[in-house]
Amino acid sequence: MLYDNLSINDKGHLAIGGIDACDLAAEYGTPLYVLDEDQVRKNCQTYVAAMKKYLPEGSMPLYAGKALCFRGIYPVIDSEGMGADVVSGGEAATALSAGFPASKLFFHGTNKTDDEIANGVRQGIGCFVVDNTNELEVLGREAQAAGVVQKILLRVTVGLDPHTLEAINTGRVDSQFGVPIETGQALAFTRAALSTSGVEVIGFHSHIGSQIFEPDSFCDQVDRLLDFACSVRNELGFVAGTFNLGGGFGVPYVESDPKVDIAANIRAIAEHLEAGCAKADYPLPRILMEPGRSIVANAGVTLYAAGGTKTVEGYRSYVTVDGGMTDNPRYALYKSAYTVLNASRASAPADFLCTIAGRCCESGDRIAEEIRIAEPRRGDIIAVLTTGAYNFAMSSNYNRVLRPALVMVSQGKARLAIRRQTIEDLLALEL
Ligand SMILES: *Cc1c(COP(=O)(O)O)cnc(C)c1O
Repeated sequence: MLYDNLSINDKGHLAIGGIDACDLAAEYGTPLYVLDEDQVRKNCQTYVAAMKKYLPEGSMPLYAGKALCFRGIYPVIDSEGMGADVVSGGEAATALSAGFPASKLFFHGTNKTDDEIANGVRQGIGCFVVDNTNELEVLGREAQAAGVVQKILLRVTVGLDPHTLEAINTGRVDSQFGVPIETGQALAFTRAALSTSGVEVIGFHSHIGSQIFEPDSFCDQVDRLLDFACSVRNELGFVAGTFNLGGGFGVPYVESDPKVDIAANIRAIAEHLEAGCAKADYPLPRILMEPGRSIVANAGVTLYAAGGTKTVEGYRSYVTVDGGMTDNPRYALYKSAYTVLNASRASAPADFLCTIAGRCCESGDRIAEEIRIAEPRRGDIIAVLTTGAYNFAMSSNYNRVLRPALVMVSQGKARLAIRRQTIEDLLALEL
C-alpha cells in the first residue's frame, strides 16, 4: 500500500487506520472524505521534532490551513505544538472558533480586505504576512487605532523556479505574490515597513511553490533570503531575526512518485543556513515553515460508490462514481495523478483498465485515466488515496452536487466531523 496506515482486512476490504472502508461508507454514506487523525499527528510530529532538533530556538512549523480548513483539524494542530497560517477572514474564523490561539496565527493573502485587517488586528492575530505596500498602510493605521503594535513579516519574491507545476509555482520574479528582490522593490518595501508606525517587522517570508521533492530549491531560497537580509542590514541597519520559508514539500500520490524524507530535508536546509550565516557573519534566524499538503494529504482517502462501468468498444472503459470534480477538482485543474482502488475487492487482481469519471456535465470531470482496478459492480466502494489536501478545501457545488461528509478516524474509532450537505443547506442563501 502507498501508506502505512492503509491495509487490506480479512474480508478483502481496504482499511484506513484499521477501520473497514466499506463499513464507513455504509454508515456515513458516499462520497465520503475520511481523514486519519493519527496520520495527521505523525506528520506534524515529524516537522516539530526535526525543526526542534536542527534549527535555532523558536523555529516552528505553521500548518497552512488552505490545504484543509475545518474546525476539527485545529485542536490536532494546536496540541501537536504547531502554529497555523490563514489566508482569509473565513479561515481565521474557523481556527478561532475551534479555540486555536490567535497569537499562533499568521495571516496571509495578496489582497486582504480592510475588514479582514481590522478584525485580525483586534482579534490579536500573532503576525500578518504583508504582501504589498498598500496593505502596509492599512495595517499601520488599524494597529494604531487599536493601540497595538502588530508583528509583521514581509513577503518577498526570491526569483526561483522550482520544477513544479506552473499553477502552483509562486517564487518566480513576476509572480503576483509578494514583492520581488531582483527589481530592488523588496528593499524599498522593507524601508517603508520599518518607518510605518503601528507595525514591527520581524523578518521575511517567501514561498516558492508546492509539490516540491528536492531540498535544493529550498537551499537556493535560503541563499537568496540571506543575501537579501544582508543587503537590508547594510542599507537599512535592520537585522531580520525570522525567515519564513513557506510550504511546499511534495507527497507521493502514486507509487512512482518520490518519497520525501522531511526530517533529512530540514537537516539539509539547517546545515545550509548555518554555513551561509557563518560566512556572512549573520546571526542565525529562527525558521518558520508552512507545510499544508505534507501534513494532511496522505491522511485522507475519498470513498465513492461505483455507479457502474461503461465500455466504449475499441476505445476505453469508464467507471462512474458518485462524486468527481466537485469534491476533487485537482485532476481537472492540474491533471494530478491519483492511486485508485476498489475498496470492496482490495485483494482481487487490479486488472480492469479504466477511466474514473465523475457525475458532472464536463468531459474533464475525471479522477484518473487509464488505471487498473478490480472490475467494480454497481455499489462497490471505490477509494481514491491521498486526498487529504486540496480536495475538501477546493470542493464546490457545481451542478448542484452536494458536498460530502468528512469523518475523522483515530485509534480505531470514527467520528463525524463535517456532516453531509443537504438540499436545505444548498437553498438556504437564496431569497
Ligand atoms: C500554498 C501555501 C503553503 C502550503 O503549501 P503546501 O505545498 O501545501 O505545503 C504555504 N504557504 C503559502 C504562502 C502558500 O501559499
